[in-house]
Amino acid sequence: MTLAFVTPAHDRMEDLRREPHKIEALLASPQARIYRARGDLIEVEGERPRISHVPLGDAAIFLGLAADGVPLFAEQAPESATLAPLRGLMLSGALPHEELTLLAQARSLVHWHETHGFCAKCGTQSEMKDGGYRRHCNACNADHFPRTDPVVIITVTWNGHVLLGRQSSWAPGMYSALAGFMEPGETIENAARREVWEEAGIRVGKVGYVQSQPWPFPSSIMIGLTGEADTHDIRIDHHELEDARWFSFAEAQQMVARTHPQGLTATHPYAIAHHLLLKVLER
Ligand SMILES: [Zn+2]
Repeated sequence: MTLAFVTPAHDRMEDLRREPHKIEALLASPQARIYRARGDLIEVEGERPRISHVPLGDAAIFLGLAADGVPLFAEQAPESATLAPLRGLMLSGALPHEELTLLAQARSLVHWHETHGFCAKCGTQSEMKDGGYRRHCNACNADHFPRTDPVVIITVTWNGHVLLGRQSSWAPGMYSALAGFMEPGETIENAARREVWEEAGIRVGKVGYVQSQPWPFPSSIMIGLTGEADTHDIRIDHHELEDARWFSFAEAQQMVARTHPQGLTATHPYAIAHHLLLKVLER
């Protein structure tokens, strides 16, 4: 199964963002497709995202152009709209992957504007610019840009085993790759080594990149890695994890196939953790 949010859906047309009159003309076009989001919710019509053709205000976030040239936009949904969680839309399996990609971009950008309306430097209300990819403060002239929060996520192996952990808030029996936010001034590799050391007390040597996945809850980019353990005695940080264990590859296969005798499972195939596990099991 394909990862959610990774299938290319459109051309973002970054060069158009600096030409506000062109963006306005695209937004005024009757073909424009406008998605609406609010927090982690998407405006829906039945089981599907509602597509509007007329904006609520005079500005909207420009997502880009579809392959057929249709302009794509996002804006904040009113409180009165019929809303559904993006996570549920993803898990339903009912939406084309291209549309999930658009919804991820829409949700993360709408959320950024919802939560960054005031200048971080002087506190004055700022204005949306560049089709929604910048906010400008007219009082102190500062520019602010949308955030993307990098998260490292890693399947660590040792002697035919893979290290997986779980948080107490997760579905019972579900285990996943260890993950954590990167910190300023840290390489991807060292962030992954630090996370595994802090959460499970395992020293990781070699780290390799596999693939990445936007994770719009609200605006992460998951950086998928595999690593080789230099040590194998687990020391769990119970503030972070309820459990962490070395699973034999055979047992991990059962968790992926959902045939594990104790009912333990891997994460949903839409999430990168699932693919990172398949990556080490295919060796
Ligand atoms: Zn300011």
